[in-house]
Amino acid sequence: MSPGERRATLVVGNWKMNGSRAANAALLAALRASAPFPGGVAVCVPAPYLCEVGSALQGSAIAWGAQDCSSHDSGAFTGEVSAAMLAEFACRYVIVGHSERRALHGESDVLVAEKAARALAAGVTPIVCVGETLAEREAGETSAVVARQLGAAIARLGDAIGDAVIAYEPVWAIGTGKTASPAEAEAVHAHLRTRLATLSPRAAAVSILYGGSVKPDNAVSLFGQPNIDGGLIGGASLNAEHFAAICKAAA
Ligand code: PEP
Repeated sequence: MSPGERRATLVVGNWKMNGSRAANAALLAALRASAPFPGGVAVCVPAPYLCEVGSALQGSAIAWGAQDCSSHDSGAFTGEVSAAMLAEFACRYVIVGHSERRALHGESDVLVAEKAARALAAGVTPIVCVGETLAEREAGETSAVVARQLGAAIARLGDAIGDAVIAYEPVWAIGTGKTASPAEAEAVHAHLRTRLATLSPRAAAVSILYGGSVKPDNAVSLFGQPNIDGGLIGGASLNAEHFAAICKAAA
């Protein structure tokens, strides 16, 4: 990618543990009706809905994916879902290392990196989440924390990190209504890109999404930053009108 060239934008909805068969059908029909979108769009849905969501989005420009995968290929891992299984349901993406999984399930940087490796091996693009807590930000540790989290993924994937997507999600901004200002978010994205650039031009060209209380009214200013290539959207992705407006802001 030559200097100044824009990377393709991507907006991904993270439904978390929300939805029902009826609500999903209505949401996806409304989303399809709002197309076309200027960049890539995807929804990451609870695993039991993957088959039905895939059918509902077949033939549309909206991709689908999952919210987690196992760090193992197969075997005695009750409750886990492998990346190969996600590939069978034509998932294009899988979120790994979301802060809720890091905090509630104790997922380490190394485990998250292993999940990303399994996803890539199965042909599914991992969306690797990084981000600092409020305490870490207030202690001036943001750069070190995200560099450590990204570093674990780089150590495991090497140059293949160029086939992943990174999502910077400050933990204090997720689901709180508090958003990093465009300048605060851009500073972290630029820091991540600089670290990726030390690896290779391919790694430097990776898409870096911002996540944390993105809404229709702040999406344009966030996505307008040079190193913000789109968004990972939680709450607002459950409302078709809001999610479509955010997708359209990523022009
Ligand atoms: C998320 O869960 O990844 C997220 C960014 O949530 P929200 O948009 O609701 O802050």
